Amino acid sequence: RSESGSPSQSCTASHPSSSADARPRQGGPVQFFYQSPTEARRPTVARGEGIYLWDTTGKRYVDASSGPIAVNIGHGNQRVMQAAMRQMEKVSYASRLFFENDANAQLADLIAQHAGPGLERAFFVSGGSEATEAAMKLARQHAVVRGESSRWKVISRNPSYHGSTLGAVGVSGDFVSEGMYGVMTRIMPKAPAPFSYRIPDGQTAETYAMACADELENIIEQEGPQTVLAFIMEPVGGLATGALVSTEAYCRRVREICTRHGVLLIFDEVMSGVGRTGTFLTSHQFQNVQPDLVTLAKGLASGYTPLGAVLASRSMVEEISSTGGFMHGHTYSSNPLSCAIGVATMQETIDNDLPHNSAVMGEYLREKLLALQTRHEVIGDVRGKGLLMALEIVSDKASKTVFPGGINAISTIVNLAMQRGLLLYSRRTAQGRYGEWLMVAPPLIVTREEIDLITDLIDNTLTAFANQL
Ligand code: PLP
Repeated sequence: RSESGSPSQSCTASHPSSSADARPRQGGPVQFFYQSPTEARRPTVARGEGIYLWDTTGKRYVDASSGPIAVNIGHGNQRVMQAAMRQMEKVSYASRLFFENDANAQLADLIAQHAGPGLERAFFVSGGSEATEAAMKLARQHAVVRGESSRWKVISRNPSYHGSTLGAVGVSGDFVSEGMYGVMTRIMPKAPAPFSYRIPDGQTAETYAMACADELENIIEQEGPQTVLAFIMEPVGGLATGALVSTEAYCRRVREICTRHGVLLIFDEVMSGVGRTGTFLTSHQFQNVQPDLVTLAKGLASGYTPLGAVLASRSMVEEISSTGGFMHGHTYSSNPLSCAIGVATMQETIDNDLPHNSAVMGEYLREKLLALQTRHEVIGDVRGKGLLMALEIVSDKASKTVFPGGINAISTIVNLAMQRGLLLYSRRTAQGRYGEWLMVAPPLIVTREEIDLITDLIDNTLTAFANQL
């Protein structure tokens, strides 16, 4: 993680300290290995409750981005803790090679009920990157079973982020240093992401989005449709694009293109899923846009345990089953403890109608952020859906200019926010090419009063930043 909490472009690892310094201490280096040049500034977390975290000095922080947009149901949830205890009392782990487990079955049923037709089957893994890998392998195995073994390319968008494992690096545009890891994997073809803030002259956001979709079709044709397996995209982007919203019209065009060329459509809802954008899946907000595969993680267990999933149709899974089942798995696939925590998280999400709260509070948050934009020169754009929002930071609103790298705008803002007890997940794209942004994505349990608190703290932080310029 970089100093602003985002996956680092530069792969800076902390230096394991000398043995004399090895004792854990407030903000000091300890002997584990972690990506951050700034651990000296990091406090030690003590506890969490609701949308708040406290450090060991007693200072309170508002978790305004749910960690890295993961803690959907908030911290310290009693139902989840009790479910974890109950499962551990029964059994924490039993291999899926030998046993079915109830928690796994219950979670799969709950997800199928809420994901709806066409996504009736779930395969559980330990996080978003594993979900990306599993989705790509499932797609590949399905193609081979159907006699289409020439299909293997997975097209994605530039920029995008689908995970940090090597397969996922190959489909993550602009995010990970290709110079560092690109040689170790296959970098797959990329179509442009339909940015709505900076668009080419003569285009509107709508025409540009359609041009980006058409570019996907051009790429499929150039690559040879018979070689293209899938297209993966985030319906509402995360850190890679700063909550870029793909419109219904764009998604429908993409769906048509994929269908026309026999290409599977994978929606990466690792960040946007499980209620984050106002519905259980973001794809539920679109007419006639049914993805073939969906990946989930983050909000699925809300950070209480590592958990991810790939959702697929019953028919796709049956086709694969006829040849002996999915040729993929990990020790912790379908882990009973993770699945039990997933069930409790899903129940909290459903019983409290958190997707609805996300839609309503998301609109309130948007209004408040737009009001801040009128007062702060550095807020170039406010975008997102539900409680997946971002503020794009610019040095000049009229020209939409990104701050020069030397100013370190994003990390300065993040540090000023942290001093004020506000945690913001953030990113500057490589050389600021696509821009830089702060994610504003509190847990889905957030109230109006808490949104007022968050936006007051952002206001105060940006005033302090402006005073420093
Ligand atoms: N896909 C998206 C859209 C993400 O935002 C992330 C993580 O931020 C991932 C995949 C990878 O998930 P994980 O960090 O759980 O491996």
